[in-house]
Amino acid sequence: MTKGDEKRQRIFEKYVSNRNLLIDNKIIEGDKDIYICPICMEPHDSIENENPLTLEDAPPKSLGGKSNVLTCKKCNNTAGHEIDFHLTERMREIDSAKFTPNTETKVKIKMDDEILNGTVNVDAEGKISIFYSKKNNHPVKLEEKMTGLKGGKIIDLNFLKTRVIPEKLEYALLKTAYILAFQKFGNSIIFDDCFNIVREQLQNPESRIYPEKFWFTPPYPKEMEGVYFVCDKGIESILVIFNLDTGSTIRKFGVFLPCPVNDISKVLEKLNEKFGNDSTLTLEMYPWEQDNEKYLEDIEHIRAMKSWLEKRKNVS
Ligand SMILES: [Zn+2]
Repeated sequence: MTKGDEKRQRIFEKYVSNRNLLIDNKIIEGDKDIYICPICMEPHDSIENENPLTLEDAPPKSLGGKSNVLTCKKCNNTAGHEIDFHLTERMREIDSAKFTPNTETKVKIKMDDEILNGTVNVDAEGKISIFYSKKNNHPVKLEEKMTGLKGGKIIDLNFLKTRVIPEKLEYALLKTAYILAFQKFGNSIIFDDCFNIVREQLQNPESRIYPEKFWFTPPYPKEMEGVYFVCDKGIESILVIFNLDTGSTIRKFGVFLPCPVNDISKVLEKLNEKFGNDSTLTLEMYPWEQDNEKYLEDIEHIRAMKSWLEKRKNVS
């Protein structure tokens, strides 16, 4: 068994025992001893089969994420690469456009009406260098230009047209938030019907299914990360706050997910109204401790959360 296999097995067992605990305590119904892929809901009785369970990084690994849950290989490949690419690429682009240290960007460089392909490198100290690649340029033309290059020459830099599709970047934020919520709550609420809209969106990145304006960049300190319930009446929802770390810049995001109390479209409508009128919106949130294990293994914590949700349902 490789280290990766051992890790997959450990995660598998952790979430299977979470599921069994919930079934034994009549919190959920269904089959025991299975792991359900959080994206497509396919049940698995072991990590290996024709569609094996694979390590899922949330946020994407290149943005500082760690793998703490499993998704099936099909979801990890298709939903994963089709969606996550747009987020990692965009974060890299923003760094490059600001000439952030430790970045590398492909550019088109205009010299004497001639366009050359090159790379702008910014080192750790912020020193900028431009490299012309022999591979992407006509070698003779390049040689001519390089020997003719003198100090003080004005060159135009043009960033290559972005390959990022804005909608898919948003779905990548949604995916990270949803996977982090699954990591925390396991089987207790994530398989509720209210999350179907999230799963549908992640499996169909070509069409918009999840309502717009579900994410924002909160002004919270770096340390504030986690999965919270928003308690305000009428906007009960789950708020996931996480950092994306490109290695040069850390950016914080907040994503609203449904919770089994309200319709997420109505929640987002109300939230955006509030955000629009009041730039210093404060949200009352539960819970304050962010100990993930408590919501997977500690039946008292799970019961308290479920009864909190039931109470909110009756208030709303
Ligand atoms: Zn799947």
